[in-house]
Amino acid sequence: MRALIVEDDPDLRRQLADVLTHSGYAVDTAADGEDGLFLGETEPYDAIVLDLGLPKLDGVTVLERWRDAGMSAPVLILTARDRWSEKVAGFDAGADDYLTKPFHPEELLARLRALTRRAAGHSSSTLMCGDLSLDTRGSRVFLGDQLIKLTSHEFRMLSYLMHHRDRVISRTELVEHIYDQDFDRDSNTIEVFVGRLRKKIGSNRIETVRGLGYRLVDPGETESSAAE
Ligand code: CA
Repeated sequence: MRALIVEDDPDLRRQLADVLTHSGYAVDTAADGEDGLFLGETEPYDAIVLDLGLPKLDGVTVLERWRDAGMSAPVLILTARDRWSEKVAGFDAGADDYLTKPFHPEELLARLRALTRRAAGHSSSTLMCGDLSLDTRGSRVFLGDQLIKLTSHEFRMLSYLMHHRDRVISRTELVEHIYDQDFDRDSNTIEVFVGRLRKKIGSNRIETVRGLGYRLVDPGETESSAAE
């Protein structure tokens, strides 16, 4: 999963980027409204944290322009003061949630997890595919009750596949959602990561759909439907 942070306070921006990276997101940051607007319009994010008080272009205007352009990623707004009018303007512009500064990073994470989950159509914080489960709270993956150790890229890829388990995901889409903007992207590495993931969770759990991409499957489900 990939997140954008638009925040002009350098300390807070760095702190948020660290916290999100640590919990399994690929993270891009912008320090003003113009940069943020551009990134949100050109890159596909799974979640966005948007400060409302920004230089160059204020957060409400940025959000309005994103929504006018059809950008549908969930957006959590940060408001500096406990001013109800700012929150109302933010929600009217298309925000999905808000936090008032100062806030605890854990609360921001919990809210972002809920937003990304709901945007992908899941209500539970544990995503399941047969006996494979991903605990979005602890960024942990289990096969049955066995903990599976994954690298950060492997985790991001599996998390994206788990969030969108009913669809075939193209290599391009995976590249866009597991790497941040500055990463030297190479779609061939996707095959390498898929290969490593298959070794760890079982080769029959990630199906290659020729010419289209990959799909997460529950081997138990495939067997029972084949038997019918
Ligand atoms: Ca600010």
